[in-house]
Amino acid sequence: MSCVINPPEPIVLKARNTEMNILFMGPPGAGKGTQAERIVEEFQVPHISTGDAFRLAMKQGTQLGQKAKEYVDQGLLVPDDVTNGIVRERLQQDDCSKGFLLDGFPRTLSQAEALDEMLKDMDRKIDHVVNLKVDRSLLLARLTGRRICKSCGSTYHVLFNPPAQEGICDKCNGELYQRSDDTEEKVGTRLDEYISKTAPLLAYYEEKGLLREVDGEKEIDTVTSEIVSCLRGLS
Ligand SMILES: [Zn+2]
Repeated sequence: MSCVINPPEPIVLKARNTEMNILFMGPPGAGKGTQAERIVEEFQVPHISTGDAFRLAMKQGTQLGQKAKEYVDQGLLVPDDVTNGIVRERLQQDDCSKGFLLDGFPRTLSQAEALDEMLKDMDRKIDHVVNLKVDRSLLLARLTGRRICKSCGSTYHVLFNPPAQEGICDKCNGELYQRSDDTEEKVGTRLDEYISKTAPLLAYYEEKGLLREVDGEKEIDTVTSEIVSCLRGLS
């Protein structure tokens, strides 16, 4: 008979068998969407974006969905109590029983507090907050590099998918242009807004010991395996 004293806890199995409630954060251009898709596949939990949750609630015509629709139809910002309620309803659905990956929520500190409250009511909690870190200059390069053909609409990227001849479409020799939303000024403003809005959130989760910072500048596969290691408690 073996007599092993205090065997090490099987961390991997434990992580696989219990709930996995993840928040995903990262600036535009950090590759959040790609990584989120891979992580939900790996952990078999639903990927919940606020946009999808809204569309579902509106489609199902729930009371909150109808309320949200009134605001959206008028081009108004949906107030927090409605947004929070829609997230709550989504998290209570059956497919979330083993966990979820929440993307695009919370965006503010008060939403984060509301999320904590609703999870507490459900006797659940956030397990990990993944933040994809990418340097601002690289984000700028990624987000400002898109070029579109004036004639046929083909898209290129000056770094990742450049045309054979600069400024000229490979397919039709049309002239390539940059959309006004993709200029350095517009993208810079978007990034700065994101950074200033989310800084308090990151601090909030760091204080709770939930923040997992992952270097989003590495190869896509490397980033995925680093996130997986974080979530399994292996790093
Ligand atoms: Zn073209």
